[in-house]
Parts: sequence; structure tokens; C-alpha cells
Amino acid sequence: YGKRWVGMGMVWVCFAGAALRWGGPPIAMHISNHHTMHMHHNMHSFQVWRGIRLMQKHDSYVPRPPQYWMDLSHAYTSLYLLQSRMMGDVIFPYDKRFRESSNIWNRNVGAPLAVVQAANEADVQQALPILSQLYLEHDVSFRIKSGGHSYAGYSGNTDGIILSVAKLNTQSISSTTSTATLVTMGPGTTVQQILDQALLPYGLGGVVAECSGVAQGGFVTGGGYGFLSRKYGLGVDNVLGFRVVLLDGTAITANQTVHPDLYWALRGGGGGNFGIVTSIDYQLYPSIQDTQLFVSGTIPLEVIPRFLTQLGHLESSGSSIPGEFSFLLKGPITSTVSIPFTIGWIGTDDGVGINNHTHTHNTTEGESYIQDSIASLVPEAKFDYDFMSWSNRTRHAGNSEGNLVRAWSGFLYDDRNTLEVWTEISNLLGAVAAKCPYLHWHVELWGGAIANVAPQDTAFYYRDALFNIGLILMVPDDDAGSTQDVFDAQVKAVDAIWPRVSKYFHGIYTNYNMESLHQMHYANAYWGNNLERLQTVKQLYDPQNIFSFPQSIPLSQKKKTDGASSSR
Ligand SMILES: Cc1cc2nc3c(=O)[nH]c(=O)nc-3n(C[C@H](O)[C@H](O)[C@H](O)COP(=O)(O)OP(=O)(O)OC[C@H]3O[C@@H](n4cnc5c(N)ncnc54)[C@H](O)[C@@H]3O)c2cc1C
Repeated sequence: YGKRWVGMGMVWVCFAGAALRWGGPPIAMHISNHHTMHMHHNMHSFQVWRGIRLMQKHDSYVPRPPQYWMDLSHAYTSLYLLQSRMMGDVIFPYDKRFRESSNIWNRNVGAPLAVVQAANEADVQQALPILSQLYLEHDVSFRIKSGGHSYAGYSGNTDGIILSVAKLNTQSISSTTSTATLVTMGPGTTVQQILDQALLPYGLGGVVAECSGVAQGGFVTGGGYGFLSRKYGLGVDNVLGFRVVLLDGTAITANQTVHPDLYWALRGGGGGNFGIVTSIDYQLYPSIQDTQLFVSGTIPLEVIPRFLTQLGHLESSGSSIPGEFSFLLKGPITSTVSIPFTIGWIGTDDGVGINNHTHTHNTTEGESYIQDSIASLVPEAKFDYDFMSWSNRTRHAGNSEGNLVRAWSGFLYDDRNTLEVWTEISNLLGAVAAKCPYLHWHVELWGGAIANVAPQDTAFYYRDALFNIGLILMVPDDDAGSTQDVFDAQVKAVDAIWPRVSKYFHGIYTNYNMESLHQMHYANAYWGNNLERLQTVKQLYDPQNIFSFPQSIPLSQKKKTDGASSSR
């Protein structure tokens, strides 16, 4: 195909490409029922001309140098070549599947040129060398997508290519012991699929994110915090091996014995840096029921500093809060209304519950523990105890797609867990929230099993964090069309106070990536003392920095500047 296209003349291809990209409704309607290749061959020159006219009238039309059009024509040539070699498909903007396949949680990112939708590992092996070459020779970038839940939108790619492994989402049991079951799952497997397909039928539960649409591909490569993390560690602590496709298209296994350097780096280095994960050997745990104890309630803002300080002291004092217990404060920040929180108590039925006491359904024990040890700390707060379905709760736990979003975050360690610090943080947040009604506060209690692993044992460095604190701004569309202005003003307001909040923090969770982080600071903030070793692994597996995005792991002597490929 490549030769044939070139033979037909670059200019024609270039025009056709432009028409496809900016064709607008008349062309899109005309071709929507046709197969891509068929349509492309039969495209009438009038339609091409009409596409160009539409493109020129398009609001976002920017004059481009001739090289841009040449690069674009190469991109289309490569994509059609790739399509002919794949089980999966290459999906272009006029295709009715385009919206779903290119959709990511962060709506600030524009539409890609196309989505390469892999159906299996072999497709990824076909795609990666071609896309790498396209990037190196024609500066057309690609990004990897599993669940699309990167806060900063790093799986999206305005006018670039998305290589999606979202359809690699099957789960199969590989081996079982009395204490754990190894499940081989695709990177596109979402939280909801694990709960529906492993927890409900088999009683297998484990460390998964709180929201239904987060997928394993990004979750376990960046860390992975869930309701069960204080009992079973982070997601990375439950990965026994990866299948990874490298830049030259070879597929390898990375585990404790084969490619241990890559295995180490993929457990906390963050997605999109070394290769494409095509499957994950993930530990789940038996005898976990779908019905669990979830306590919801609200805490008045003025009481939060005292409560969080005490909760942190309880965790760090060695009195050992049980691993089944998780705490998440999450909601809009206002001083007049209390902030919602969730306490999860994910118990097992294995007869070995908290403190090795034998019992049959330790969620009941959880209720007593929470009443006696936690609720007693805050008589002002409201606690509603509810035994409910974990899978259903997650299904309905807000995935707020369709907003303009921005996140800020940081870890608070024990040495800063004081009433003064929390008071200052909540005062600052309370004040900025008065100007930012769409700002949500997010505080997770860490500790427990997360801290049982040494910082250098996996690439996830911040093992001793007590709390993970985040702010999430989610501005919904408004009919007046002022969404972007409202968003920009609120981002500015938070950025202005953030240095006064973050001075108490030590490090940032890669999976709660912060777009506002300065280019000079992000690498140390995400990877701490593990950065140098990560750079060594990066040099080995990606010496040309092909897996690059605004906050990717930088090579120690950079050949490309960060973000060089972020947009074109
Ligand atoms: C609503 C929401 C709720 C969240 N809840 C939690 C939570 O409870 N706990 C928690 O720890 N985190 C949570 N997160 C953060 C989440 O874990 C990260 O954003 C994670 O990276 C998302 O993974 P993904 O595959 O869905 O996202 P994607 O956007 O598809 O991927 C994230 C990053 O990994 C790269 N990547 C994706 N797939 C692969 C692959 N197969 N191989 C190599 N690189 C890949 C992407 O290029 C991107 O850079 C939440 C995020 C959102 C938006």
C-alpha cells in the first residue's frame, strides 16, 4: 500500500488527509457508512475540494507550512498500512466509533488524528515500530491509552495518534494458592470489570481504584491506591509480572527474574514511559464478598484539621488502624456545608480478620471499630453505616466525564501532621473555594501495608506518606459558553495559593499528575530518590525518548526537550 500511495502522488494524499481531518458534517455524513479503504479509494475530487474549503473556513484553521502537510500525508500512509496489518482497526474522525475510542476523562485535550485500536498483543507489535518511525521522521506523536483516566490527559493527543489498548481487557485465572489468586488481565481491564467479573462470581477482590472507569494499564504502572491498599499495598505491590511490547515490536515478559529492571521501573514509574503493557499478572484475594461496609458522612470544615491530625496520629503511633479500614474525604470545599467522606471496611470471610481474631463476617467487627475508635474522635460529624454492594457502589461512583478538569496534589508525612498545618491548609482551601465553587477536596489516608515496602523496592518512592491530598477542579459546560473563562480564572486562583499549601508536602503521586508543575520540578516531585535509576532504565529501553509527553521520565542528558511532542 505504501508504494501505491506514494505513486499516486503525495499532494493528492495530503489533500485527502486534510479533507478527512477537517471534513465537517457534509463529508462525514456522506462517508459514515463506508469502510475506510473503500471510501478513500472512491473519494471524489469534488469532496476533496469541499473538504479543503470547509477546513479553511473552520474556526480553528491555522496556516501550516508545507512540511506539515507532508508529515500529515506520511501519517495517513502509515495508518492505512497499519490498518491492513491489524486484527484491530484504525479509527478516523468520521467513524461513528471515533468518539468512544478517543474519549478520555480530561476534556481539555483536543481530538486526535486517529485512534489505532489494538485487538491483541500482536497488533501492538505491528503498531509500535510504525508509530515510532512516524514520530522520529515526521514528528507525528502518539500516546498510549488504556482507561483514559489520566488526570492531566496524557493518553489523549490533540492532532496526534492514540494507540489504544482499551480492548485488551480480558481476565483469566492463572494460578491459585490458599491466600491469593493470580489473574492475568489486559491493561484495558477497568475497575468495574474486575468487580463484575472477578468479585461478584468468584469472591476475588483486591486493590482497585475507587472509580469504575479507571483501567489497570495506568493504575498499576503509576502506583495504584484503593480501598484495600492499607491491607494489601498499592497496585504495584500486587503485580507479579508484565507483558510489554518494546519499541522495536518485540514482546517480552518482565518480572522478578526476567528483565527485572523493567519490572521494577514499571511498578511506579508511571504509564507511557518504557513500553506498552499488554498484560498484567495481578494478585487478587479470595473470600471477599461484594457486600461490604461503607460509612458515609459529613464533617464540618472547621473540625477537619483536628480530626485529620488525630487520624494521622492513630496511624503513625503504631496503634495500627486495621488494613480493612480506608478513609477518603472527598467533596466540594465550603465553610458553610460539611465535607463528605467515605470510610470503607472491606472485610474477608476467611475467619482471619483484624488482629487475628476469628470471626465469620468481619464487617460487623468493622462497624464496632469505626464507632469506638474513629467516630468518637469527631462527635460533630455524621456517620451513616451501610452494608452495600461494592460493585454497584462503584458503578455509580461519579465518573465526571465532560468537564474541564485540573488536579493538584501532594503527600503529607507524619512530621507535618499537626493541627497548625492542617488548620492553615484548610483555611487556605476554604478561602480559595469561595472563589472556586467547582473545587473538590480529596484526602486519602495511606499507611498500613503501603509502608511495609521500602521506597527503593519498587519505583513508587513515597512509601511513608501518611495522607495523599488533592484538589480537583471540574468545571461543567454552561450554556452561556463561558466554561473556559471560568476554568481559567479558577485555575489561576488555585495556582496562586498552591505554593502556600504544597510547602508542607513531600512528593506527588504520579497518578494524580499535576499539569501546573514546573518543568524543572516534576521529575523529582514524582520519583524522588528513584529518579536516577528510572532514568537508567529509560536510557536502556527508550534511548531516543520516543515515549515522551510533557511529564514523562526525562533522559538524564536530554536529546529532546520535554513536551516536544505534546502538540503539533
Ligand atoms: C475519576 C478518577 C478516579 C480515580 N481514582 C483513583 C483511585 O481511586 N486510586 C488511584 O490510585 N488512582 C485513581 N485515579 C488516577 C488513575 O489511577 C490514573 O489516572 C491512572 O493512570 C489511570 O489509568 P488509565 O489506564 O485509566 O488511564 P490512561 O489515561 O489510559 O493512562 C494513564 C497513563 O498511562 C499510560 N498508559 C496507559 N496504558 C498503558 C499501557 N498499557 N502501557 C504503558 N503505558 C500506558 C498513558 O499513556 C498515560 O500516560 C483516578 C483518576 C480519575 C480520573
